[in-house]
Amino acid sequence: MAERIERVYVPSAVEEGGKGLSLGCFSSEETAWNVLRSFLRKSDRMLLTAASVVVWDVDVIGEHGLTVLASLECKDCPVCTRQTFWVDLENFSALCHGDACAAWVEESTHEPGVIDCGWPPMRFLKQTKSIDEAFTELFKLGDQVKAAGITEHSGVEASETLLDEFDAKYS
Ligand SMILES: [Zn+2]
Repeated sequence: MAERIERVYVPSAVEEGGKGLSLGCFSSEETAWNVLRSFLRKSDRMLLTAASVVVWDVDVIGEHGLTVLASLECKDCPVCTRQTFWVDLENFSALCHGDACAAWVEESTHEPGVIDCGWPPMRFLKQTKSIDEAFTELFKLGDQVKAAGITEHSGVEASETLLDEFDAKYS
């Protein structure tokens, strides 16, 4: 007997101007997220403003069948300045989907109330007391990166030197 599908996972995105883009509906949450994530990499070229993943229970009439798993909002990335920084409004976390960036902000899983932020290309990691503070740290880092002329293609060595200078300045 074929397995009956009881729930479908639906990722979608919204373009500037409000036009919705359907990305399909999927039988697993993981697939829905994978489809959305790979789509969001293009967000700086497409001017997307929002995205979401919802789940629909099949054969339920009306809104009761709908659960919003995540709604994301697109902002300019504090580090790379591209419009690829996606903020999850439900359970606060943010991640840049731009190539070679991946700047992020997230509530600490170990210490409640602590907000972590980071930038993997330079192995930058900082703990802060608030979301605002975390963004300030990333903006500061973005300024350093711009000032040093570090591009996404420059080597790890250059990044490490910058990180040392950065540490000396701010800690
Ligand atoms: Zn970025």
